[in-house]
Amino acid sequence: MSLLVVGSVAFDDIETPYGRAQRTLGGAASYFALAASHFTPVRMVAIVGDDFTDKEKAVFRGRKIDLTGLEHASGKTFFWAGRYSLNMNERTTLATELNVFAGFRPTLPDPYLDSSYIFLGNIDPSLQRSVLKQVKRKPKVAGLDTMNYWIEGTPAELRETLKHVDILTINDDETRQLTGEHNLLRAAKHVFKMGPRTLIIKRGEHGALMIHDGFIFSVPAFPLEEVRDPTGAGDTFAGGFMGYLAGAGRANEQTLRSAMVYGSVLASFTVERFGVERLASVTRKEIVARARRFARLTTFKL
Ligand code: AMP
Repeated sequence: MSLLVVGSVAFDDIETPYGRAQRTLGGAASYFALAASHFTPVRMVAIVGDDFTDKEKAVFRGRKIDLTGLEHASGKTFFWAGRYSLNMNERTTLATELNVFAGFRPTLPDPYLDSSYIFLGNIDPSLQRSVLKQVKRKPKVAGLDTMNYWIEGTPAELRETLKHVDILTINDDETRQLTGEHNLLRAAKHVFKMGPRTLIIKRGEHGALMIHDGFIFSVPAFPLEEVRDPTGAGDTFAGGFMGYLAGAGRANEQTLRSAMVYGSVLASFTVERFGVERLASVTRKEIVARARRFARLTTFKL
């Protein structure tokens, strides 16, 4: 089933202890769409400037990614620059130039209005809600990502949007900030009262934890010898996760668990190289092989 994603498409400057990438393709929607397109057709809603040419678009071509909803505005594409610490656990944002992203008002092209799987990437919660308002019917599954900026800055808007969402993907600090509760299991109960039935806590090199109203499931990050650039790992995870669910066409306990593993598998490819480089070249065969290794990594006899 088709999966709609709304979010940022960007040029990124990234510095890690392993090197540097300049004006590389980034943005949450880019990572998300590339990951999800391995499982299901993706409809993208985002904005770019006139410096975003066919060369950049080429990465999305030849995949199941519909770019009808990629708006071209006059001006520059959103630009972000970040630098990672030596252990790569901390990131300093060096620049955030919103450019055309500042005037972004997501508009769904007609063929997108029947989307039944929707992912609201990390943007202003009122814009996230405007996307849900445009679709013809309540989606089968709506997922949402957000960050401390919106949790602190527009709490009422965020609360209103969360009422209409099934799955929330955030990190542990954001979970605590959103709920005012330190213990993550108790925090999840607060989240359930806000709307979502599923909370996915992204924990970087420690993997991801899914707390569902009824069961809990944890996946590690796939152990890698080479981690060069963690940028976009969370967005890739969300893309693999939502893509798998949309591809399966249902979100029951079994598909939610498998989706967690595929999210983690896809994210493990992203971090091996800078930007979307590795994600853009990974094949279905490599994904399946790593998922099998993932199963061996986590299976044991009781
Ligand atoms: P992550 O590593 O998951 O935080 O995602 C990094 C991506 O998010 C980069 O490719 C950035 O272009 C994009 N990004 C950074 N800041 C923002 C922002 N304020 N709004 C939307 N996207 C952003």
